[in-house]
Amino acid sequence: MPEGLRSPTVFTPKTVSEAITNKLKNQDARFWAGGTYIMSRPGFYPNPNQRDIIALSGIQDLSRIYHADRYLEAGAMVTIQQLMTMGSFIFSKELYNAISSIGSSVIRNQATLGGSLCTSDKRFTMSCVLATLNATAEIRMVSKAATSRWVPVSKLYDRKGNFLFADSALLTKIRIPTDNSNQMQFISRTLDSPMLNPSEAVILGLQYSISQGGITNPSLCITLPNSCFYMSQDFDNLLSTLTFPITAEKIQKVSRRLATDLHISVRQNTNKLQIERAVRLLEVILNEINTNYLAG
Ligand SMILES: Cc1cc2nc3c(=O)[nH]c(=O)nc-3n(C[C@H](O)[C@H](O)[C@H](O)COP(=O)(O)OP(=O)(O)OC[C@H]3O[C@@H](n4cnc5c(N)ncnc54)[C@H](O)[C@@H]3O)c2cc1C
Repeated sequence: MPEGLRSPTVFTPKTVSEAITNKLKNQDARFWAGGTYIMSRPGFYPNPNQRDIIALSGIQDLSRIYHADRYLEAGAMVTIQQLMTMGSFIFSKELYNAISSIGSSVIRNQATLGGSLCTSDKRFTMSCVLATLNATAEIRMVSKAATSRWVPVSKLYDRKGNFLFADSALLTKIRIPTDNSNQMQFISRTLDSPMLNPSEAVILGLQYSISQGGITNPSLCITLPNSCFYMSQDFDNLLSTLTFPITAEKIQKVSRRLATDLHISVRQNTNKLQIERAVRLLEVILNEINTNYLAG
């Protein structure tokens, strides 16, 4: 080990309560899930200010996954690969492909759901996909009472993509709705690599259904990995006014509104081209939905 470095202390809790106690007593220690993001940070090693580690891998409760009637419930330590294996019987092809686009098989075997949702300052594919699907997350607050609550994934972040519970909560489970009695469609597109090129990449998720000649119940999420997490009820309401055929004028109206919203949502110094790409991506998707509808 290089001179001046010390080994971090590693806590190995066996229960969620123990992990919370470890964190309360060692505020600077960090939860460690798969470690793929933590270890990829510049200056991670060697670093004289290594933070202590609370390893979550020994907490069995966090590795459970099961399918109930209307949702799939997965612990925070379920890996992306395990989610795909379970989901291959349940998820639509588009959803399965969106999840399998994350990193490489090595990363998917190591990276966990909790780690994907809890990176403090970057928003990757999983946040966008799960927010679009109206998934919810159970979090346990880092406090003496260690209260837990269920929060929509969309409410875990601010508009600039910051995780609102960094260091103040442990994410324990997520629930992904799987009941498709209302014929919801799901679309996901990613431009560029969110990890390798976060200042140009765009991730988009859209869930909707079609009824009475128009788009209904839309839920749109757009993520610019290092600068924006965009979901807006007002914008979803605007999408739900779209009826077929979706003309160029209607698309223009929607895209102008999205551009305005994104410009006021993003972090400073965001690449304007990235916003432009997000707007164009939505246009392409609306054109696709229109063509598919008209083609019957
Ligand atoms: C080479 C490479 C390529 C990648 N490519 C892609 C890609 O194409 N698309 C994409 O979307 N992502 C990509 N990623 C990012 C990847 O999704 C994340 O690195 C990964 O999901 C993080 O999961 P982890 O379990 O390793 O988390 P960790 O690195 O262990 O933790 C990440 C953060 O979350 C916190 N944390 C972890 N678990 C919890 C919890 N339960 N509660 C509270 N906080 C917690 C940790 O303290 C840390 O701050 C890539 C990563 C790498 C290294």
